[in-house]
Amino acid sequence: MASNTEKRTEISEIGEFGLIDRIREKFTNVNASTHLGIGDDAAVIDAGNKFLVVTSDMLLEGVHFDLSYTPIQHLGYKAVAVNISDIAAMNAIPQQITVNIGLSNRFSLEAVEALYDGIKAACSSFKVDLVGGDTTSSRSGLVISVTAIGEVSKEKIALRSGAKPGDIICVSGDLGGAYMGLQVLEREKQVFLADPTMQPQLEAYDYIVKRQLKPEARMDMVYELQDFNVKPTSMIDVSDGLSSELLHIAKHSQVGLSIYEDKVPIAKPTFDTAVEFNIDPITAALNGGEDYELLFTIEQSDYEKVKNHPDIAFIGYIKPASEEVTLITKASNMIPLKAQGWKQF
Ligand code: ADP
Ligand code: MG
Repeated sequence: MASNTEKRTEISEIGEFGLIDRIREKFTNVNASTHLGIGDDAAVIDAGNKFLVVTSDMLLEGVHFDLSYTPIQHLGYKAVAVNISDIAAMNAIPQQITVNIGLSNRFSLEAVEALYDGIKAACSSFKVDLVGGDTTSSRSGLVISVTAIGEVSKEKIALRSGAKPGDIICVSGDLGGAYMGLQVLEREKQVFLADPTMQPQLEAYDYIVKRQLKPEARMDMVYELQDFNVKPTSMIDVSDGLSSELLHIAKHSQVGLSIYEDKVPIAKPTFDTAVEFNIDPITAALNGGEDYELLFTIEQSDYEKVKNHPDIAFIGYIKPASEEVTLITKASNMIPLKAQGWKQF
């Protein structure tokens, strides 16, 4: 039993990122091959003539997914895709994954096979090999944790820390869709729970529901930037929401930045559904999370090479450290961005 005099700090007081900082402070790397440890989308390991990058993400039933509306194959696909997304964020090419699962007796062989069908589909779509893992029993439903390994030539690695004043801030695809998809799925679940004869009405929401249930890692963007001979000066994937990721870039690169509200890419189904739910679409895009798009910065001299790319939005620019991280609204007001991303603690 802990005595009354022992200090007890709730994790909610410091938050997820505060907790990770505490863990990081406890350790000092001792191996010369550890090029970069905790703090980026993936760790960077010096493998001689190239870098290896390693990342891990865990999904828990009841926290990250709800099997009442998540097809289990899609869950397998998503568990891999979210890890490949972190490899993409390093400008690296994924090579291998390992998969750990915890299963309760609710899960049949058929369910586990369906999960692995999804994992296999992701392996073939991202061209990675499943090379190992671990299998245990679980008392709290399904747990799935994936580790992904990628490689990149040393001069091509993209860290969160490389943005420089004047660089242009870019984002792939569109934002806020996965969050609005989740709102629709949760609403339909409540309707179904209240009246089980009601069938979900999801056709109109196809795009955003797919963004939530079957996200894609943007490896295509990594290859295209290479084809255009553009090396991002910094990069991060959008897992927690654009605001949170911009703040990471600013903190790690020790810069300020501004983005323009009217430049943030929002797809029409996302916009329309946000309006239907009385959510400001820009709020869904800034704070929604789980879009797994790539947020990156490029030097101004590279702009000409990519300016006509239909799937890259140029949303703002990097400023000196003396400036804040701000959003310039449609009415030309400058407001500070705060991370209101998905916080589980
Ligand atoms: P991402 O959203 O890109 O997956 P996270 O915010 O989950 O990144 O993690 C940020 C950094 O903290 C990463 O370098 C990750 O490896 C590290 N990290 C997260 N949790 C832990 C942990 N429990 N122990 C050690 N490192 C951790
Ligand atoms: Mg990431």
